[in-house]
Amino acid sequence: MSKNNNKKTKKKRIRKGRLLIVILLIGAFIFAIAKGGIWAEKTIKNIQDKKNKQEVEKTVKMEQFDLEEEVNKDLGKKYTVLVDPGHGGNDKGTMNKSKTILEKEITLQIGKRVANKLSHQKDVQVIISRTDDKYISPGDRARLANEQGVDVLVSIHLNAEGGGNSASGVETYYRRGAIDESKKFAESVQKTIKSYIDTRDRGIKEDIYQVLRDSDMPAILIECGFLTNPGEIKNLQNAEYQDTLAEGITQGVLTFLDEKSK
Ligand SMILES: [Zn+2]
Repeated sequence: MSKNNNKKTKKKRIRKGRLLIVILLIGAFIFAIAKGGIWAEKTIKNIQDKKNKQEVEKTVKMEQFDLEEEVNKDLGKKYTVLVDPGHGGNDKGTMNKSKTILEKEITLQIGKRVANKLSHQKDVQVIISRTDDKYISPGDRARLANEQGVDVLVSIHLNAEGGGNSASGVETYYRRGAIDESKKFAESVQKTIKSYIDTRDRGIKEDIYQVLRDSDMPAILIECGFLTNPGEIKNLQNAEYQDTLAEGITQGVLTFLDEKSK
């Protein structure tokens, strides 16, 4: 009898032990799946980030390639536009708080997109003041426009708020006291940009920026957004946003040229 009882408790113990192992195994299994899920999610996100970055680099590179072909082609076109990506070289322009995102880099990316879009118009010849990271003085940019006899000049810049980070939106400047159609040009582009991207409309303003002051044709300087505003920093680095913004600028330029020729 007592022998039997012993056997039973032994069996029970063995069963309890097995049960514990099974529970532990199930627990470990669930943990592994969850962990694996998180790891997979992270890996997918990393791959996507990498892919996005490569996409931006690829599109900008491709546009530069298109551009060089177009810019050196035929001079018998109806209009010539100078696209001027602001800053470059030692002149970094404005930047975000941690100084990792520079105005000169974003203006070059947006400028190339605009130049590329305009170059696909059969009536338009495009000149771009720079296609890489080099310094050109504002006076030389205006001189280039004057010497080439361009119809319009579009300078591309980014804004910064002194001390704060809440200011946002797009504003377009024209030469102070302009007697040509610079103001009309600024209105046309500002209006079109606003219809393409969802951002604050800061309107048109006049100023004495040298690139505007020294040029002899309708000329504008677009402040495309604030590198001090976290939301705009994110947008301005995004390839799709850059492209939509560039489309807005391009359509504004074309609208102005169309109306000018009427
Ligand atoms: Zn600038």
